[in-house]
Amino acid sequence: MDYRPTPALFVADAPGLDFLNSIATPVDEPVDWIGDGEGLLSWLAQAGMASAPTLAAMRAQFIAAELDTVAAQARALREWFRGFVQARKGRPLTRAGADLRELEPLNQLLKRDDRYGELVASEDGQASAFEYRVTRRWNSPESLLMPIAEALAQLVCEEDFTHVKACEGPRCTLLFADHTRGHARRWCSMALCGNRAKVAAHRKRLKERENA
Ligand SMILES: [Zn+2]
Repeated sequence: MDYRPTPALFVADAPGLDFLNSIATPVDEPVDWIGDGEGLLSWLAQAGMASAPTLAAMRAQFIAAELDTVAAQARALREWFRGFVQARKGRPLTRAGADLRELEPLNQLLKRDDRYGELVASEDGQASAFEYRVTRRWNSPESLLMPIAEALAQLVCEEDFTHVKACEGPRCTLLFADHTRGHARRWCSMALCGNRAKVAAHRKRLKERENA
């Protein structure tokens, strides 16, 4: 289904998982928000992973086919990483070699990042006049993968995989990090699956009452 009329979903509480949720079925039909180059640019803007001027420059510098190619790479990265998360959610990652070996494709991608530091004027109210900021060169269409790779790396380093969960909605594919106290979160969101489950449970109770 066309992704354009529907805003992308950011319900995961972790940018790396939001990326995995860039394909989902919010109503009846699956939507892939990074189905083409334009979709990838729009998703990165919605995710706050690239600024509007950066994305405008990418759009002006590269042809649609090049951006479509990098979107295809992003989709391949997404499905590879989904496999990694699906196999490991619900338990902590281990320091032992296997998990790190599995992540080698991500390390290969991170190596291609073109980052540099610069001094910028700090915001008003800061003690120092300047601030050291790390930023990246957006030299090729592939640069668009870099903020995503960074989000995946942060997920692996900072998130306790014990609390990475799949929504319990029967047809839902969304993943999230459960940061609630008591870790009792069950749904991608109340609006999407929580209410649906409540309605289904209510119907079931009514039926049981009728049959009693
Ligand atoms: Zn759900």
